[in-house]
Amino acid sequence: MTDFTGKHGLIVGVANKRSLAWAIAQATARRGARLAITYQGRFEDHVRELAATLEIPALVLPCDVALDAEIDAVFSRVDEAFGGLDFLVHGAAFAAREELTAPFVQTSREGFRTALDVSAYSLIALARGAMPLMQKRGGGAIVTLTYLGSERVFPNYKVMGVAKAALEATVRYLAADVGPSNVRVNAVSAGPVKTLAAAGISGFSSILHVYPERAPLRRNVEAAEVGEAAAFLLGDDSKGVTGEVLMVDAGFHVTGM
Ligand code: NAP
Repeated sequence: MTDFTGKHGLIVGVANKRSLAWAIAQATARRGARLAITYQGRFEDHVRELAATLEIPALVLPCDVALDAEIDAVFSRVDEAFGGLDFLVHGAAFAAREELTAPFVQTSREGFRTALDVSAYSLIALARGAMPLMQKRGGGAIVTLTYLGSERVFPNYKVMGVAKAALEATVRYLAADVGPSNVRVNAVSAGPVKTLAAAGISGFSSILHVYPERAPLRRNVEAAEVGEAAAFLLGDDSKGVTGEVLMVDAGFHVTGM
């Protein structure tokens, strides 16, 4: 597995120790990466506590991915501290609770806009900020997190499924755009894992129960397995892979019934 010694990464989307972005942070930091980790307002304490557990001290910065000024500030701080960037992890997603409970046909214009802005457009904004820093390193790797709800209907996933479809299309278009600069863009499509974001989807436990019954591996995946797969896509072992959605879901996606 790729050694990340001397590599610098930016991790966006850590809320707490259960966050998939934190699993990716751990998988890369364990292999020697130095990280910058961002938090959304209320999570500052949690993220600082987690960052303090890493062997190589991490830079901890605020970032609301809906605000271009905060994104710009993050990249200028990262550039000052690291002098470039080797990888970026995008693990932010949001849909207002009412959009996930009301019938899908009632999805509001504003709810749709917010879900797609925070969960999909933000990957473009972050990639744009990362590009000059990655070009200083002769290339880089970007990984985002998606879910099978982009292609199939899952209970109460609703506008988030639409946002994930947009996110996966964004991965492909970005990959084509930044590939000539030797920057790769991929997604990990994770099976259900109990996190804060997952708790916002009512009936999530019914999704969690179906995987051990139907997935080829007869179990759910663990956050650490998502972290390892993302580390593969971020590191040199996947140098020839871009524009890809890697399924890390115990094989659930191949099942018909
Ligand atoms: P999580 O720990 O709750 O992480 C999601 C993070 O996104 C939270 O820190 C959340 O903060 C943050 N976020 C929301 N709006 C933001 C904004 N405007 N700016 C910056 N950050 C913002 O949950 P997670 O499950 O690890 O989610 C990470 C990614 O994995 C998401 O894209 C999710 O859709 C995806 N995913 C999750 C699963 C699963 O089963 N858990 C499966 C497949 C894919 P707030 O809490 O403040 O909103």
